Amino acid sequence: MSQDDALKPYREKRQFCRTPEPRGGEPAPFGGEPLFVVQKHAARTLHYDFRLEVDGVLKSWAIPKGPSLNPAEKRLAVPTEDHPLEYARFEGVIPEGEYGAGTVMVWDIGTFRNLTEKKGRPVPLGEAVAHGHLKVWLEGKKLRGGFSLTRFKSGKDEAWLLVKNQDELADAHRDPVAEAPDSALTGRSLEEIEQQG
Ligand code: MN
Repeated sequence: MSQDDALKPYREKRQFCRTPEPRGGEPAPFGGEPLFVVQKHAARTLHYDFRLEVDGVLKSWAIPKGPSLNPAEKRLAVPTEDHPLEYARFEGVIPEGEYGAGTVMVWDIGTFRNLTEKKGRPVPLGEAVAHGHLKVWLEGKKLRGGFSLTRFKSGKDEAWLLVKNQDELADAHRDPVAEAPDSALTGRSLEEIEQQG
């Protein structure tokens, strides 16, 4: 699928004369490790949007409770439409009445490596997403280490689970959602972003 085709649902939901969100379509930066971002989104209900750079777009899941560092905590992750790469640094306010109205914060941002394997062979990430299972190593400011995303329900109510893998960065006693609530990009709180845009 071309990047423009992948972004069609994203663009159809938004009116770019009204929302400050990026339309997308700038050429992807050359080289470097792929990006991940977790955006805290105070929409009708507060949630965390987990996004991974895959084949020129940000594959996206909405996580109501946010990520956990405890491998025993499985977090529901509901897939949403692909977002443009430029969205990774979007922080601001989506106006009332527009799709996803509310404040968006870059809660965590960094790079990642794809660790997905099948029978000992690496699986490209696009394929892993299509097959419903992927494993990544995150290098963020708040989230580090291995995480797995696994689809457990297909169809109209498609649903996945995000789980911290058991490794040296797993920690059942730390909760980054509670301990580090502010922006990884600007240090601002949700209230400050709401006031400043
Ligand atoms: Mn959202």
